Amino acid sequence: MDKYQLLKQYFGYDSFREGQEYLIDSILEGRDVLGIMPTGAGKSICYQLPALLMREADEGAVTLVVSPLISLMKDQVEGLNQAGIHAAYLNSSLTPGQYRKALSFAKEGRYPIIYVAPERLPAPEFMDFARNANIAMVAVDEAHCVSQWGQDFRPGYLKIVNFIDALPVRPVVAAFTATATKEVKEDIIDLLMLQNPAMITTGFDRKNLYFGVQSVKDRYGAVKNYLECHPKDAGIIYCLTRKNVEEVCERLAGEGFAVTRYHAGLSDEERKGNQEDFIYDKKPVMVATNAFGMGIDKSNVRFVLHYGMPKNLESYYQEAGRAGRDGQPAECILLYSGQDVTTNQFFIENNQDNQELDTGLRQLVMERDRERLRKMTFYCFTNECLRDYILRYFGEYKENYCGNCSNCLSQFENTDVTEIAKSLVGCVESCRQRYGINVILDTVHGANTAKIRSYRMDENPFYGGCAKVPSPRLRQVLNHLLIHNYLAMTDDEYAVVKLTEKSDDILTGGEAVVMKLAKEQPHPAKAEKGKSGRRKLSYGASGTGAGSAELSPAEEALFERLRTLRTEIARGEKAPPYIIFSDRTLVHMCMLKPGTKAEMLKVSGVGEYKYDKYGERFLDCIREFIKISGSVEA
Ligand code: ADP
Ligand code: ZN
Repeated sequence: MDKYQLLKQYFGYDSFREGQEYLIDSILEGRDVLGIMPTGAGKSICYQLPALLMREADEGAVTLVVSPLISLMKDQVEGLNQAGIHAAYLNSSLTPGQYRKALSFAKEGRYPIIYVAPERLPAPEFMDFARNANIAMVAVDEAHCVSQWGQDFRPGYLKIVNFIDALPVRPVVAAFTATATKEVKEDIIDLLMLQNPAMITTGFDRKNLYFGVQSVKDRYGAVKNYLECHPKDAGIIYCLTRKNVEEVCERLAGEGFAVTRYHAGLSDEERKGNQEDFIYDKKPVMVATNAFGMGIDKSNVRFVLHYGMPKNLESYYQEAGRAGRDGQPAECILLYSGQDVTTNQFFIENNQDNQELDTGLRQLVMERDRERLRKMTFYCFTNECLRDYILRYFGEYKENYCGNCSNCLSQFENTDVTEIAKSLVGCVESCRQRYGINVILDTVHGANTAKIRSYRMDENPFYGGCAKVPSPRLRQVLNHLLIHNYLAMTDDEYAVVKLTEKSDDILTGGEAVVMKLAKEQPHPAKAEKGKSGRRKLSYGASGTGAGSAELSPAEEALFERLRTLRTEIARGEKAPPYIIFSDRTLVHMCMLKPGTKAEMLKVSGVGEYKYDKYGERFLDCIREFIKISGSVEA
């Protein structure tokens, strides 16, 4: 079989996505490769497919996949087995007996693909197997773990090179990651000693993800509303603190939503159980701190809500990016409130990880963290395209309009905010640049608090000068002034608001300040629902964005039935539902409504092997549905 036939047969896809074919061809030519592609782009197929082709060419050929996380390996192996490909993993989750058995099957040459934890590589038993096997390729997944620049450094990754050196014949080395900073990329090439690798970077953009920011008073209400509008969809709600996780989860559960929770304060057992409930769609909504997520490969996460602003855009994009790994439309919405800044500042000042650094270095790290927090905060206030804002942060420059974020979809009008700006800058000047954002805001708003009185800001000439302007609006204007350097903030822990050389333009220069402000504030969750709320199928070279078609209401109903069938099958197989068929495959099925095997095989994601296992049951379900609804055009 050639690569196209294999792609169809095992994975059920008709064409390659951006970058895949180039990397696959390079591997088959015997060249090392480095693939830098965002989450969900389809990196796995880049080594799985050549592994199968190498096996066809040479019966004994084995591909070793080095992977950092047990859960990732399990998911991948399960997916391969479901597609009819023999694969196994070797890691510390196996008992010694299971390990020996897997290794002896490996020695018999049963597996074309074997996943292995990096720490296993030097083990004598494993080395013995490897020296006598025909290892055609070593694929290094999450290759950034080799670099100390990133957050996920794994010393075991440094041993990969020694392992490869110890093999009788050097295999092809293929490295993959979603992290694209220059330092990490250089580290991967150097430390894995890639030889003249074929490289591809497909960019950071995840076109299928919708980005939204909402500044709401009643965050819980917004979350509840969102869940009501998206019943049964799988999603994650990230909270800043464990306490928030507890509260939100308990309230939602009390109102009858199928939610579960995850944070570092729970027992291992509970975390494991809750994670499984989520993965298997028993409890489709997970409320969690950022402790949740590493190694979650669940592809049908349809939304990620942030109940609070994370500490920087790196974290935000990573967490939000857990949505829509199947390339289907998914939503990432950040629910922002002013206190989030204070909470994060507290985290920065009290970061335990930094306790061991010497004072100078610690100051530097804290300054960097404050700067990152500031950029994150601006994300919540910018009126520009949100996607563009994120991509620019990561060094990618695109157009300033994506059409799939809350800013691109909102109507703005230019509003003159000169008077507000004058009060804010005037207040900073008259208090002799001694206070932080909140004191300034409270003063011009005329808050009657103990703090304001103790600073005697109630005697400030600007006290209450903008009493009628709502607080969020005041904050927006202040952020606008900071973004455009009419004001600045000090880098130390006190984060005091200071004047700049541009401040005078406003105070005495008569400069008008005009900013884009949203026309009206529509109701939070309904606003997100402003889009039809129906399921879509994403097309396009990368399978993400580029174009999409929407399900009709009747097709939505069919989707629900197919999803229920999928859940039933998954329970029987004890496998996560998305491993049976992805959401994307189900949506495509609803559109094509296949009536025969040949038609079913045209559905993206249905290969021969899976057809044999499940095809008939899905065909029956579709036939039944058409009979009841009376029309194929439904
Ligand atoms: P990554 O490892 O880059 O995050 P995966 O390898 O998990 O991404 O792939 C993400 C999803 O895209 C999977 O559901 C996979 O089956 C699907 N996919 C991969 N390649 C293709 C393709 N050529 N056509 C359609 N879907 C694909
Ligand atoms: Zn946009």
